[in-house]
Amino acid sequence: MGKFGAARRGSLQRKGRSAAKEQVTRRKEQKPELEGLAGGQGAERGLEKELQPPDTAVELANQAERWRAFQKSQRLDTAEAAARLLLDTFEYRDLVKHTGGCHCGAVRFEVWASADLHVFDCNCSICTRKQNQHFIVPASHFRLLKGTDNLTVYTFNTKTAKHTFCKTCGVQSFYSPRSNPDGYGVMPHCLDDGTVHSINVEKINGKEWEKTIKEHKTIKNMSKAMI
Ligand SMILES: [Zn+2]
Repeated sequence: MGKFGAARRGSLQRKGRSAAKEQVTRRKEQKPELEGLAGGQGAERGLEKELQPPDTAVELANQAERWRAFQKSQRLDTAEAAARLLLDTFEYRDLVKHTGGCHCGAVRFEVWASADLHVFDCNCSICTRKQNQHFIVPASHFRLLKGTDNLTVYTFNTKTAKHTFCKTCGVQSFYSPRSNPDGYGVMPHCLDDGTVHSINVEKINGKEWEKTIKEHKTIKNMSKAMI
């Protein structure tokens, strides 16, 4: 313990001496009552045992039946996939699951994000050339379904941003942006139809990247999970 801890303990001891005496007296008075309570708890524990379902296997079987029905309805191969969908649906209940990928279909992903997307339109050297528009999500909200081996990465300058794109068709459907290297930037134009309600586009001055990022109120936190 450091000197501050020792000093604090000393002061507490001085202050607490009379209070401690009181406590000892009170404890003695309460002793029979406490014993009585302990006896009561013991009795309750016995009752709990009696209330346990006689055959937990029956309960499990009921759940297993529900798992099978759920997996079938959601076209999921495994109970693990079903569990993930239930967890995602619970944790991201204000979001929707978008799916998307590159043009040839080698790269596919799912991403949990709002149905109302906030998209950045950047004017930096690379974003201009590839007309990059993207919305940013935490890494936990994004899952690559296929195409790990079909992705290649382009980096330049600080090499922080990882510009991933499909080796076959050249389409960039997602990447790791310099603004949020621990998250993903996802291209709204690479999402499948049906889950996007609206798109709000914010122009961002990537030409003056350092200044823009310093002044921007929200962009740096977009890869940080809210939950
Ligand atoms: Zn492709």
